[in-house]
Amino acid sequence: MQTSVIVVGGGPVGLALAASLGKVGIPCVLLERGREPSTIPRGQNLTARSLEHFCSWGCVEELRAARLLPPGFPIGGITAYGSLTGRYWYAPAGRETVSDFYYQRQERLPQYLTESVLRTRIKAFGSVVALFGWSATHIEVGEGGVHVTASDDTGDAHCEIEGSYVVGCDGARSLVREQVGITCSGTDFDQRMVLAVFRSRDLHAGLERFPPRTTYRVLHPALAGFWWFFGRVDAAETWFFHAPVPKDATAANLDAHALIEQAAGFPLACTFSHVGFWDLRVDIADTYQRGRAFIAGDAAHSHPPYGAFGLNTGFEDAVNLGWKLAAVLSGWGEPQLLDSYTTERRPIFVETGQSITEGIANDRAFLARYRPERDRDEFERAWNRLTAGDTAPSSYEPHYEGSPIVWGPAGAAISTRGQHTFRARPGHHLAPALLSSGRNVFEELGPGYTLIALTDQPRPAAAFRAAARAMGLPLRVLADTFAGPRTAYGSRFILVRPDQYVAWTGDDLPTDPAVILRRVVGS
Ligand SMILES: Cc1cc2nc3c(=O)[nH]c(=O)nc-3n(C[C@H](O)[C@H](O)[C@H](O)COP(=O)(O)OP(=O)(O)OC[C@H]3O[C@@H](n4cnc5c(N)ncnc54)[C@H](O)[C@@H]3O)c2cc1C
Repeated sequence: MQTSVIVVGGGPVGLALAASLGKVGIPCVLLERGREPSTIPRGQNLTARSLEHFCSWGCVEELRAARLLPPGFPIGGITAYGSLTGRYWYAPAGRETVSDFYYQRQERLPQYLTESVLRTRIKAFGSVVALFGWSATHIEVGEGGVHVTASDDTGDAHCEIEGSYVVGCDGARSLVREQVGITCSGTDFDQRMVLAVFRSRDLHAGLERFPPRTTYRVLHPALAGFWWFFGRVDAAETWFFHAPVPKDATAANLDAHALIEQAAGFPLACTFSHVGFWDLRVDIADTYQRGRAFIAGDAAHSHPPYGAFGLNTGFEDAVNLGWKLAAVLSGWGEPQLLDSYTTERRPIFVETGQSITEGIANDRAFLARYRPERDRDEFERAWNRLTAGDTAPSSYEPHYEGSPIVWGPAGAAISTRGQHTFRARPGHHLAPALLSSGRNVFEELGPGYTLIALTDQPRPAAAFRAAARAMGLPLRVLADTFAGPRTAYGSRFILVRPDQYVAWTGDDLPTDPAVILRRVVGS
């Protein structure tokens, strides 16, 4: 079989990459071991940014229709001290505080439903061949192409696939990463964790003292900064729970029910459908690319599900790599454009991993230092400071200022720490804005680059169009007035990448637009 991109692993990230390639007609073969998605709910919280991706893949309505929670159910968390019946608790502001800066609203649904929506969607793209029930067994990467050997789950059928690139979206134990020799580094907390999925109406009833929320986190001095964590799967009775457990814990010797009651703080009946374990590590690949091989999602980085970053970060990897592969395979992106995948995406995870590690250390220090039974006034002052300082969602603004393929400020660096604003800034996600037609900018962005031209000139940016045409670069010019909500962009000309990040801004057009364009395609 011959294709352009071989995607190994069709969990959410591999499916997302196939959708990103399929929507622009790039041939790809996706190999996924499982005939059906695993039924463990896993990554449930999808950020507003991830919903923008579903919109661009043409399946956002299908995704919203698949949710189990009623529309409008508040997505966010409760943090309690001691247990869920504890006196001290707060409901930190969630990602809804930044939702105006995105074109879509956040969503929550079990990962297997998200995967089902994507599985259905990619089947509609003519350029995507999806092989479910097939595993990659051997990867070879040469100067001129890649070769993948695969076999089906009966072991009777085998196939050989030739492609230009291979991408390992095959999870934390990635075969692609291992076979192409990409090493990882990270922090091993030497901590075993349990993951239980269960049904309990009693738990739902016992949490009615809180405003409705989707997750419940318990901080307890005995946990050394790790959490007891409950997440809703539906609005009434299905839950997942994860917690630190002894190193030798097994499904046979762990009393998961007793642990859940301890974390809840009250007796409850529950029926388990899954009890599994994992080791708490923060791990990152030392590079996301070796020659014609790439890795994305958990294959490139993994961490405990503290903060709901894993899946959302993986989707952004897929989208970032997807447009760059499409650009190079279509001939308008320079091969060096592919180097910018590691350059842009790896620092984002480095900081995400650091903030998770620091969060665990900070909670550990807080819990060791302050105890209400030791000095209640001191504890309450510290608890109030802790809860007031919890502003994580608003300061988490991953951006690529400092990337070699955007025209960012001199000396800037790629980071997760930024500020949400409507201003269009090179290297940052474009905020939505209404056009004078009543439509949103996001409804008008092209599949390639878009030049937003906010000017009264009748046919603006002719030189830009001509330069793009000469380079074979797909460019849509979106003309409107510099008025109303669009003035918040702060610039009259905004060049937007296929992943809705801003590449360049200006109030005047450059004398030679080719200079601007050459950098953004990797020259
Ligand atoms: C308890 C828990 C809760 C979580 N909660 C959240 C959350 O709220 N938000 C969030 O963003 N993230 C969350 N995560 C993390 C999230 O689930 C992962 O980040 C996500 O699954 C990563 O997707 P992936 O596609 O990279 O990898 P995976 O989901 O691991 O998918 C890899 C796929 O590759 C396939 N595969 C592997 N090897 C081969 C091979 N050789 N050939 C063919 N196929 C292969 C596997 O069958 C699998 O389907 C949670 C994780 C856990 C465990």
